[in-house]
Amino acid sequence: MITADRFYIGGAWVAPSGTRTMPILTPSTNARIGTLTLGNAEDVDRAVAAARTAFESYSLTPKPERLALLRRLAGITRARLDDLGRAISAEMGAPATMAREVQAYSGLGHLEGFIAALEALDEEETLPNGDILSREPIGVCGLITPWNWPINQIALKVVPVLATGATCVLKPSEHTPLSAQIYAEMVHEAGFPAGVFNLVHGEGPTVGAALSRHPDVAMMSFTGSTRAGSAVSRDAAATIKRVTLELGGKSPNLVFADCDLDARVTEGVAACFYNTGQSCDAPTRMLVERSVYDRALEIARAAAEAQPVGDPAEEGDHIGPLFDRLQYDRVQTMIRKGLDDGARLLAGGPGRPDGLPERLQGGWFVRPTVFCDVSPDMAIWREEIFGPVLAMTPFDSEEEAIALANDTDYGLAAYIQTGSEDRAIRVARRLRAGGIHINGRDADYGSPFGGFRQSGNGREGGRFGLEDYLEMKVRPPFVA
Ligand code: NAD
Repeated sequence: MITADRFYIGGAWVAPSGTRTMPILTPSTNARIGTLTLGNAEDVDRAVAAARTAFESYSLTPKPERLALLRRLAGITRARLDDLGRAISAEMGAPATMAREVQAYSGLGHLEGFIAALEALDEEETLPNGDILSREPIGVCGLITPWNWPINQIALKVVPVLATGATCVLKPSEHTPLSAQIYAEMVHEAGFPAGVFNLVHGEGPTVGAALSRHPDVAMMSFTGSTRAGSAVSRDAAATIKRVTLELGGKSPNLVFADCDLDARVTEGVAACFYNTGQSCDAPTRMLVERSVYDRALEIARAAAEAQPVGDPAEEGDHIGPLFDRLQYDRVQTMIRKGLDDGARLLAGGPGRPDGLPERLQGGWFVRPTVFCDVSPDMAIWREEIFGPVLAMTPFDSEEEAIALANDTDYGLAAYIQTGSEDRAIRVARRLRAGGIHINGRDADYGSPFGGFRQSGNGREGGRFGLEDYLEMKVRPPFVA
């Protein structure tokens, strides 16, 4: 049984002032694996004070020193990928192989992207008009992260803080404290000065809101639901903080008749189910050109029926359970809503998958599900489900496909499957989303990640991810 009852503040593991606790549950069995102590506003005050003090000197650290610290952190991250993977798998249910090789590895991939971006960044430059522009760290940053890609999100926020010379207080999801604890150990071991990075556990409406409102916090970076993101914006408004938000999505996948249909549809189904559908940029709406729609349905049905679901403790490319009871109930409700609204069920459906071993009966496993003939007014077409549920619909023309794809409140990602480069570029230009994936290829570490519209603002990763944490200052050239 794990006891997570210390916060990392001012370079040391300290006892929190909050005393409430909550169980840490593992999704594959719903068994309790530990206990987390939740912080309060006093803990936030203490951590912000440490970050504010550290900012005085860390903000002046020369770039080569920051780069050396980041390189040390990279070595430590590499050495602890197994630990991170095991923690992620236990706390949020990602299967062992994916938890280590993708979820944990993202902490290293993003770090390398930021190191390259920092190396290339001109922290001071002369503008065409002769004035001098300097980029300086913004101050103390409040970082709030979700449970679904815990280390990916932590790295996308903590690393640019460390890279730019800012300081921070991280409040990870209260549901995934274990990987965050390891991250704090790694930052400590890398030798960042005390107070540069602080970790406070706790719930959103208490610790998260106290951070968002805090007068000494200059910026909030939030990843999570649109509902909580808008609460952070409201709480931050009184003190005019910079707020960057990475929120939900309902990303379209446009499948044109000229693509390699078997491969592209099969992969589209797998991409929707990846991480058990709990990814903000999952391609959850598949739009298929009518001439190949019936064939695409057959391919999608076969892919969904072949999708293995299993124990996250085991290696392999299966998917694991959903994260918790709330997610399970929500996904079941949405599947039932799809049926009630008249969508045609192609694979899966309500309930748990057959054939799970006895020891996993208490886990939050769901059936990989595909609906077809889904119309744009249905909830399963419009709302983020956050489970392995794909909605398919046909289209007749490129114009109609683009209109259907853009008819959403979100705009995080969009996927295009076509054999024509001209079409890929033409359609990509018209899709209102921050990240375009083409024929199964995604953007690499170091490219900006973020969304249009209600998927958020700001960008994470690489050069643009650094810029969010920088203030600009100008001065005229010196004349005596
Ligand atoms: P959530 O909004 O419930 O929680 C996210 C974080 O916000 C947690 O740390 C939580 O404690 C905190 N929080 C909750 N209410 C708060 C409040 N009032 N004030 C301050 N903080 C508060 O989201 P979740 O269920 O953990 O994550 C799933 C959501 O995250 C999905 O909507 C998903 O699309 C989104 N997400 C987006 C991205 C992206 O980069 N765009 C990445 C991953 C997840």
